[in-house]
Amino acid sequence: MHQDTKEVEARLERFVRDRLFSSIYSNKHPLVISAWEAAGEPVPFYVAKQQEFKSVPIGWKFGRAWSTTWLRVSGEMPFRDQHKEYYKPEIIVDFGYNRSRSGFQAEALAYSPYGTPIKSIAPKNSWLPWPIESEYIEFYLEVAANPDIAGEYSFAPTNFGEWDTSPEVKLYALNELCIALLDERVWGLTQDVLAIQGLMNSLPDYSTRRHKLLRACENMLDIVRTGDVSKNVQDARNALATVLNEPASASSHKVIATGHAHIDTAWLWPLRESIRKCARTFSNVLSLMQEHPKFVFSCSSAQHYVWMRDFYPEIYSGILERVKSGQWAPVGGMWVECDGNLPGSEAMVRQFVYGQKFFQDNFGIRAKEAWLPDSFGYSGALPQIIKQSGLDFFLSQKMSWNQTNTMPHHTFWWEGIDGTRVFSHFPSADTYNSELTGQELGFAEKNFAEKGHASSSLIPFGWGDGGGGPTREMLAAAYRTENLEGSPRVSLGSAAEFFEAAHQEYPNAPVWRGEMYLEFHRGVFTSQLRTKQGNRRNEALLREAELWSTYATLRTGMTYPAKELRKAWEEVLLLQFHDILPGTSIAWVHREAEIKHQEISQTLNKIIQQSLSNLVNDSESSANEVEMTSNVSASERSGISPLAVGIKEKYKGPALLQVIPEGVILENRNIRVTIDKTGHITSFKNLSDGREAISPNHVANEFHLHADLPNKWDAWDIDLHYKRRSEVLNQVTSYLYGQSEAGHVWLEIVKSVSSSEKITSIVKEKLVLYPDALDLEIELDIDWHEREKLLKLSFPIDVHAEQVAAEIQFGHVWRPTHVNTSWDHARFEACQHKFVHLREENWGIAFANDSSYGYDISRNTDTNGSTITTLRFSLIRAARFPDPNADQGLHSMKFRIKPGASILEAVKLGYSLNYPERRIMGNRIIEPLVFCDADEVIIETVKLAEDGSGDLIVRLYESIGSRVNCNLRLNIPFKTVSRSSLLEEPLNLEVERENSGISLELRPFQIATLRFYGVKQ
Ligand SMILES: [Zn+2]
Repeated sequence: MHQDTKEVEARLERFVRDRLFSSIYSNKHPLVISAWEAAGEPVPFYVAKQQEFKSVPIGWKFGRAWSTTWLRVSGEMPFRDQHKEYYKPEIIVDFGYNRSRSGFQAEALAYSPYGTPIKSIAPKNSWLPWPIESEYIEFYLEVAANPDIAGEYSFAPTNFGEWDTSPEVKLYALNELCIALLDERVWGLTQDVLAIQGLMNSLPDYSTRRHKLLRACENMLDIVRTGDVSKNVQDARNALATVLNEPASASSHKVIATGHAHIDTAWLWPLRESIRKCARTFSNVLSLMQEHPKFVFSCSSAQHYVWMRDFYPEIYSGILERVKSGQWAPVGGMWVECDGNLPGSEAMVRQFVYGQKFFQDNFGIRAKEAWLPDSFGYSGALPQIIKQSGLDFFLSQKMSWNQTNTMPHHTFWWEGIDGTRVFSHFPSADTYNSELTGQELGFAEKNFAEKGHASSSLIPFGWGDGGGGPTREMLAAAYRTENLEGSPRVSLGSAAEFFEAAHQEYPNAPVWRGEMYLEFHRGVFTSQLRTKQGNRRNEALLREAELWSTYATLRTGMTYPAKELRKAWEEVLLLQFHDILPGTSIAWVHREAEIKHQEISQTLNKIIQQSLSNLVNDSESSANEVEMTSNVSASERSGISPLAVGIKEKYKGPALLQVIPEGVILENRNIRVTIDKTGHITSFKNLSDGREAISPNHVANEFHLHADLPNKWDAWDIDLHYKRRSEVLNQVTSYLYGQSEAGHVWLEIVKSVSSSEKITSIVKEKLVLYPDALDLEIELDIDWHEREKLLKLSFPIDVHAEQVAAEIQFGHVWRPTHVNTSWDHARFEACQHKFVHLREENWGIAFANDSSYGYDISRNTDTNGSTITTLRFSLIRAARFPDPNADQGLHSMKFRIKPGASILEAVKLGYSLNYPERRIMGNRIIEPLVFCDADEVIIETVKLAEDGSGDLIVRLYESIGSRVNCNLRLNIPFKTVSRSSLLEEPLNLEVERENSGISLELRPFQIATLRFYGVKQ
């Protein structure tokens, strides 16, 4: 047999490209178009409609970046006498699209003349339905001229990330806007051919089925009239019917296809544009559902629904209807799809609490599956938080982006740091924006790791980020692969259906234990420092505000600021979205995030001040006011218990400063630190054991400046080659030291960074030793004007540490300090929350930070044989994409170092630094509202119940990985108490009651939530 396979394939390709697509529409008729260009930010429909519209021709150029153009379109229906069952009039639109991509370009929402959203327009979904019976055509298009910032992902710096810096050029053109007839038969043939072509291309060359499909296409090509495809279209379809009707084999892979649109809550566009992106996509989905009753759409993020409720009530009521009928499936149960590592303990909880609460209150359902397809790695605390929030399953996909190692499973149990397991799935198609093409389906089967043990995978399909969501073409692909030889069997359904069935089929799925570290995007622990600092600060202020306002409400009858707290939480949670908190959005987004964080801080500080003032002031004896200090850290401070307000005890011994020829010594009764004239720490001793912390022949507190130009994904990535170029900052421009009246001693060093003899950045560092302190504090003020540089602060420690403990939510993870395996080698930059801790048997050292998340760890052996474990904090970067001016300007941050510290002391050092004491004038000492007698148990949250009942909620956790029995005492009477879920609902668990409290047993890293009823006000 002579082979002509390639020629037939090429013939088919040419036909599809040049004849088939262009034959779908015929009889194009022009429409009357007029336009109004909004001057600034978007306006609602009713405002736009009242404006003066001017006639515009086809070809008209419009759309300066981020602007909105409203088009009024009208005309007579030209096809009223052309009723044929296979003809459908449709409006077709082209704004000068690059059709090879979805989204990221001009997008439009069509409205009826009464302001009802109809459907949206995007590059790969650029039509509107119009009934043939109607006499007139009239509608409005709200066209958003969103610049294509991603472009071809060249990662070149762009000015399009802010309204003001965007070039004054028109980005789009009115290339086509007309009414035409869609020939459903030709459209059907197109979908047949695409399904066959896709399946063919997914099968190996030797496959008989592949060749059979090709020959069926060849027969079709012989029949079809290439000059007029509609002429013989039915015969052409008949030629393909046989191969399309051949059924799938008994053992074929099963795919549950669920409609989806991954809409980033902000990213290469501002938050306000995501509101419109949601409206546009959701209007498409509702329109598609009218024709396709089996189509299910999975949609996450309570925040996106809130936007619809508040700004697009008609779309929202459409959603409510479809939720009721089961076609619209709210998934995730989170406020937004947040970052998977960076949110703090309670914030990660509230993502679920407020997400699930919104779903419950508005839809009467709770999500069963956590849904984080795109976050950059997943904390080992998540399984416990997910399960305790009433979810049973976890979905992600991002781990397929690993650069080095392949995750071994697609369907598996994920075990968290406390031992909780959650049944999990990664779609084996390696995408959450599938088109359900034959290639994608074939790959989903080929790639599925659990073949032979499990038989199905989930595929979320639909264009995200403004591409418009699922399309009728994708559904056509799903229908054609329901039962098709050579293809996985595709059925439309929900993620919950998939998970229930997958769990039932494979209850003994393999287990992945601990965090899921993404071997990619390692710069996200450091990029856009101010956004991260705002988040850290407000997480702490929220904890403090809830604690003191609860106490003030219960003790003084103050009104609990439930509304203000809830609003602040929702705003913080929104800004934890997986492109905002990681620092990977455009300048516009980060500018707004910084402003919003400042506003939230002001609100929370007011609540804290007011609550504290109510608590410590007894109105009857206001004359005897003294300075009091609040302590919301996790350990006693100057004689004041945790969660109490009292009068500080005087320190026992002052800190002293000694000038030596090499530099200075800062010393108190606990520690001694020697610092040389370049600000490097040459010796650091805990005086109780006399042990030297710094590796001999090395200096600590050294600034390393690295070139930082990743191969791509600038704000996201730190590539390992950054280590190859580094310089130590040694240029000291100022060196001052002193002793304060308050008893502490300090050394202040200013260093400069220069380029071509010109100073570019200034690093001011103050090392402070307080009287009685067991740790050294480092304060940094960095005036940063570098580009594509990474600044690290290095501490080579003389400790034989196998692992480093890094804090995550409600506990910590252990990560190796060596690079034995490819997994260890790939983990060259990792995430911490408030502390990291290094230890060998009987000795450890703790490092706390108030705003730094990224660190790296390495080990070496000194000439004397001792291990040098070097810990380096990533202080600041300066990526140029997507924000060309990222991280420029002033930044302040703090660290604390405590040699001779246990892991428990590390935990407490983290709280101590992140919860500075607060001074207030008062006349009443406040004992803790809640007290726990076990040191390792941290009371993370004290608040009133979300349901407004006045019940008291206390959330605590075991912090060091030990089993503990503890007694919890309440400083206020209560009637009963129950263990509850994170959603504050009672669990069926016994609580051992004692007079003024309860006793509890906690397993390592267990989170416990207690609900106290009948708390006396
Ligand atoms: Zn995303």
